[in-house]
Amino acid sequence: MKWFVALWVFCAAAIHSFSLDREAFTFTRYDLDVRVEPAQQRLAVRGSITLRNDSSSAQKNAVLQISSSLSWRSIQSEGKLFQFLSQPYTSDVDHTGELSEAIVRLPHEVPSGGSVELSIGYEGVILLDATRFTRIGMPKEAAVHSDWDQIGPAFSAVRGVGYVAWYPIAIEAGNLSQGRSLFEAIGRWKKHAQNAEMKIKLRVETNPGGTRPKMLCGEDEPWPSELTTEPQEFSIDCHYSQLGLRAPSFVIANYAVLDRPVVQIAYRAEHRSNAEKFAQAADTVAPFVTDWFGSIRSKAQVAELFDSGASPFESGTVLLAPLSDTDPKLLQMALVHELTHAAFPSPRPWIYEGLAHFAQAAYREHQESRSAALDFMGLHRTAVVDAEKAFNTDPKDSAAKDDSLISTMTDEFYRSKAAYVWWMLRDLLGEGPLKKVLAAYKATEDRDSAYFQRLVQAETKRDLQWFFDDWVYHDRGLPDFRIESAFARQASQGNYLVTVTVENLGAASAEVPVTVRFDGGATSERVEVRGNAKGVVRIAAAKPPTEIAVNDGSVPESDLTNNIYMVQALSK
Ligand SMILES: [Zn+2]
Repeated sequence: MKWFVALWVFCAAAIHSFSLDREAFTFTRYDLDVRVEPAQQRLAVRGSITLRNDSSSAQKNAVLQISSSLSWRSIQSEGKLFQFLSQPYTSDVDHTGELSEAIVRLPHEVPSGGSVELSIGYEGVILLDATRFTRIGMPKEAAVHSDWDQIGPAFSAVRGVGYVAWYPIAIEAGNLSQGRSLFEAIGRWKKHAQNAEMKIKLRVETNPGGTRPKMLCGEDEPWPSELTTEPQEFSIDCHYSQLGLRAPSFVIANYAVLDRPVVQIAYRAEHRSNAEKFAQAADTVAPFVTDWFGSIRSKAQVAELFDSGASPFESGTVLLAPLSDTDPKLLQMALVHELTHAAFPSPRPWIYEGLAHFAQAAYREHQESRSAALDFMGLHRTAVVDAEKAFNTDPKDSAAKDDSLISTMTDEFYRSKAAYVWWMLRDLLGEGPLKKVLAAYKATEDRDSAYFQRLVQAETKRDLQWFFDDWVYHDRGLPDFRIESAFARQASQGNYLVTVTVENLGAASAEVPVTVRFDGGATSERVEVRGNAKGVVRIAAAKPPTEIAVNDGSVPESDLTNNIYMVQALSK
């Protein structure tokens, strides 16, 4: 009989995995009561979630996934407890490399567009675990600097989707050893969850006589004063309104807090002087951020990670980082990003994150020079080129083929590519006009995709339809410039006129600088070159030209090896 049961469970699992559409439901609302016991490294969650069927067919089953170190306790709806099948599901969406997946047979079929509310309970431990990296060969010491999430007696920090599934999700497996499958899976999840809402009551139990911990679980209410509900329990409420852009995370430790006008820094008491340096960096960059993006509306928050080698993490206006780096220039670069978020809210990832990365490049220019800024942008270029290549050579679903900036949830696009788009917009419009456009922007009015383009048109009288078409509304890939020909003639004594024809082998149009170099100097002009077309520019030079270069690095390009043209002899 035992065998029979085991076989039945196995068959059920096999049938389920064939017919299951794990991404049929969109999680639209979470209301979770999260109890953390740091001493036991435990977490227990009770609450409700709402799922909307966004697939085209009615659904009889729903899938709920949590980290493999957590276990399902109950799933119910309309007061009825459900039978559910719980199975391990291998996926690198969680730091353990595996999920606890509950397959729930719903009481009624949920029609396409219909919703269902489920009451849920689950609990377990969250320990330091970097299995998903170590099993693909990364040394453990390095892996735990990336996957540093854990609940612990002295310090707890747990990030959401893409790190630890500490709230239920449902995503087809993503695997670090299979190209971009993990990033694509997370990107799909973010797109689904774009407008989802989450309410959390985070409770912490401390040992009798234990000190009050500082808790952080969102950005709405920075370091609120803890409410004492029972002698040894403290709680705070957090609210996230756009889950697509945020990875709900929480941090609990006995921090000291440095409270400044534009930033709050939670640090370990022995690192007071390092925290002061972060605060100074914030004070230094604040006027630059205000000048570009308006007044800083909420304080940025920095919380110290206890592992001094941990990779920093940012979500919204929150930055989690070790406080070991104290090079003022580096700290300024980090804080310019967070303060830009604090000054410039937007529901659109390419605006919200793109501007924050652009602000870092612009600040780099302010610190040093345009070429230092372009070197900084160059760090983003490979990511953009690789992502474009992946989308154009291996589009698994046709939706990925047109991953336009306006709708993308791909990190490399809404961060790195968007930073370039803002940089190009600044070059096209000029700094003053772009600042005017940004000042006119209102997040609450950004409801249709052409809103920002209309602001540009209204403020600058420039028709940039071609630019928005090729960079924002569609994914046309990247340009690839080469100089087809260059002719120089002596126009007058000591004055040469160089006619340069630039060919764009890619499909995205751009305005790109062309530089003529000559003995002792160089001059540049900009030329607009449409996709798969040519553009001609005439440039005056004081001496015979020796070399001509297209693109100074300000336009992201798929191939930079064909950008230089050596001028051989001067035609008279
Ligand atoms: Zn950011």
